[in-house]
Amino acid sequence: MKSENQVWRLRSRPQGMLETSHFSLSKEPLAELPDGQVRVRTTYLSVDPTDRIWASEAEQYMPPVELGEVMRSAAIGVVEASRHPGFAPGDRVSGRWGWQSYYQGPPEPLRPVPPGVSPLAAMSVLSFIGATAYFGLLEVGQPKPGETVVVSAAAGAVGSLVGQIAKLHGCRVVGIAGTEDKCRYVVEEFGFDAAVCHREPDLAGALRKACPAGIDVNFENVGGRVLESCIANMNHFGRVAICGLISLYNQLGSTLPPGPANFQLVMMKRLRVQGFIVSDYYPRLMEAIGPLARWLKEGKLKFRTDVVDGLENAPAAVQRLFTGANIGKVLVKVADE
Ligand code: NDP
Repeated sequence: MKSENQVWRLRSRPQGMLETSHFSLSKEPLAELPDGQVRVRTTYLSVDPTDRIWASEAEQYMPPVELGEVMRSAAIGVVEASRHPGFAPGDRVSGRWGWQSYYQGPPEPLRPVPPGVSPLAAMSVLSFIGATAYFGLLEVGQPKPGETVVVSAAAGAVGSLVGQIAKLHGCRVVGIAGTEDKCRYVVEEFGFDAAVCHREPDLAGALRKACPAGIDVNFENVGGRVLESCIANMNHFGRVAICGLISLYNQLGSTLPPGPANFQLVMMKRLRVQGFIVSDYYPRLMEAIGPLARWLKEGKLKFRTDVVDGLENAPAAVQRLFTGANIGKVLVKVADE
């Protein structure tokens, strides 16, 4: 049993890409476990595009991570020691204790991981990621059978699930991704009907070809010219679910580009454009996790993870999201179960 905790703290606010130099990695002593507390060994932690938002001071949907604070993230682990009657060594738990090799504290932030659920599933499709795809598509996007759904960052954690859920609801699904390989992957592996590379010089034209009946629902993960190209192809009374705008995040803290340039089409085409944050749906989480788990079991839903080994590589893992190196959910493996 270790008495030392490895901890990544935010050291400075980024301009541009999050770099390792924006964080400090330290070894901190773990106190003797007090009565009523639990010690959890982290096995995996989540890195997410929102890390770049949280590291900035820009207006956001929850308080930014303060300088000197442990970097925030979802995590999963195994109870190593417990002085609380509700937890025993070996229990698997998840929570949001951030980039550190141990959580030690009261049990309130910990949730049990259901038996039989792998840590990779618990940290991706059966987590807030799956819920983002489920509620964002079905409640915000409101797709109807036969409609065309376009999802950007289609090979990523959220996007790959959105496309599959839309297919399960009888829609035609077109993905947007950053390479031809990713485009092929979402069609062959995740069952999308077609995919378009966002590096196409005439992206709006390429989308027009891929969506001959126009776009009814745009599940937007990227923003910028990707969003503009979707707006250009939306059908009247279409829905644009703004899940994320990753192409803008590295500019938070400096001047953001203007746009979308064709915003007037929202009025001309009577579009509904709605942003959402998955935490608004947390009281209803099981409404999403239930069907997601069922589809997984029935073999109707696939998920992929992109696992980076070692807590020391957490900042490098975040960069994979911004360079597009990942397919599926990026996780950092901190220790064996
Ligand atoms: P992904 O696994 O999709 O990884 C991010 C992907 O974004 C990359 O693989 C890359 O794919 C693409 N990307 C990065 N930079 C750019 C760029 N400049 N232009 C175009 N594409 C880019 O991440 P997640 O699934 O975790 O998140 C996807 C989106 O969902 C993010 O915007 C995130 O902020 C948002 N989100 C929102 C939530 C909410 O509650 N609203 C909750 C969770 C996530 P490619 O190679 O295809 O370019």
